[in-house]
Amino acid sequence: MEPKDQPLVVALRIRPLSDAELQEGATVIAHKVGEQVLVLTDPSEDAEDPLRAHRSRERTFIFDTVFDQHASQEEVYCATTQRLVEGIISGYNATVFAYGPSGAGKTHTMLGMDAEPGIYLQTLTDLFEAIEGTRDVTDCSVSMSYFEIYNEVIRDLLNPSSGFLDLREDARGSIQIAGVTEVSTSNAQEIMQLLTKGNRQRTQEPTATNRTSSRSHAVLQVTVHQRSRGADLAEEVCVGRLFMVDLAGSERAAQTQNRGKRMKEGAHINRSLLALGNCINALSEKGGGRAQYVNFRDSKLTRLLKDALGGNSHTVMIAHISPASTCFEESRTTLLYAYRAKNI
Ligand code: ADP
Ligand code: MG
Repeated sequence: MEPKDQPLVVALRIRPLSDAELQEGATVIAHKVGEQVLVLTDPSEDAEDPLRAHRSRERTFIFDTVFDQHASQEEVYCATTQRLVEGIISGYNATVFAYGPSGAGKTHTMLGMDAEPGIYLQTLTDLFEAIEGTRDVTDCSVSMSYFEIYNEVIRDLLNPSSGFLDLREDARGSIQIAGVTEVSTSNAQEIMQLLTKGNRQRTQEPTATNRTSSRSHAVLQVTVHQRSRGADLAEEVCVGRLFMVDLAGSERAAQTQNRGKRMKEGAHINRSLLALGNCINALSEKGGGRAQYVNFRDSKLTRLLKDALGGNSHTVMIAHISPASTCFEESRTTLLYAYRAKNI
């Protein structure tokens, strides 16, 4: 199978050690040892215990691609998401997820910085360029929505005063968000401006781990409507949808000593991430001929993405970890989650 046709790609990105981690005396325990291979070392004292000497402190994980701290934004984009563009303008759906604990680099990968734009801008630039290339034969229109899912509730980030939005199934059985703002647009910069504006509306509060963590899933939805030039108006419009999702931090409620409201958030986040992992895992089994029932109804996130995760769609999951010894447990659970999603 050409990499381009692979329905599911699971990549892993290790960010550089931060200054704060260095100051805490953290060491690097996550190493890329090959294009697809990562080794994680257990830094704990009792791992040295002679009684456990037969157990290796090192664990190897294999992904479609592993990126270390040297990988550029462009490399990450080209090896993961670039392949989706062609499908979207041919009417297929696609989803890109950034997964991982808070502070591991999800927003850096998706949004990035002006000098190093992330997946959003790189994908949109290529998407509009590809659309431009088909202009002679097709009429295309592009629209975008930007919303968050927080505690199983959907909020429009482009119109926060609209309250909680519901999912509806339309006449063709495809899932839509009732009343969400859809902005017609013809250039990537315009989308980025709306995104920046929307980000100021995100539900984002500090937790006991003392760093800013996103407690909501932020979803950028880009819809491409396409019709052959000169076709009569009764002809079906071809629709491709792209979802780019900056997922909520995957750290577990228990680890952040959360109580009350935070604990409820943790439970909702775990539920949607678990449902997502189960759906992706089931889909990857389907590819291997071991079809099983995929329960999309378990969370808002998976219900919404039903059309974009099944069928002829493409899915990219980029999991993120810190390389620091102080993040061992978080990194280990992240690696296990992503590894299981791929079901190699
Ligand atoms: P998350 O969205 O997962 O909570 P962020 O993307 O905000 O994490 O990353 C946390 C910090 O680490 C930010 O200051 C970010 O700029 C930095 N960072 C993350 N990934 C990288 C990377 N690959 N290279 C350089 N800095 C990074
Ligand atoms: Mg973030």
